Amino acid sequence: MSTTNEPSANLLNEVALIACGRREGKTRSCRSCARKAPALLNIASTGALDALAAAICGGHSRACRDCHTKAEAIINETMAVPCNA
Ligand SMILES: [Zn+2]
Ligand SMILES: [Zn+2]
Repeated sequence: MSTTNEPSANLLNEVALIACGRREGKTRSCRSCARKAPALLNIASTGALDALAAAICGGHSRACRDCHTKAEAIINETMAVPCNA
């Protein structure tokens, strides 16, 4: 009964990896970013870029530039997910 809109593990992984800082050869995020991923994905689905950036940056009211870039990447990534049709 709890399978409504459950994000795929793959997508969560991707979000965590972007938040952690995607780099060549890096395939996994650290634990703390992995734990944040569901919340980040939640925010991303609302399209709130500023809130997402702040959440990545660590709960500050204003995110740094780096985290803003990451937030954009996450929103792009989550929008680009194809549906299962
Ligand atoms: Zn990390
Ligand atoms: Zn930051």
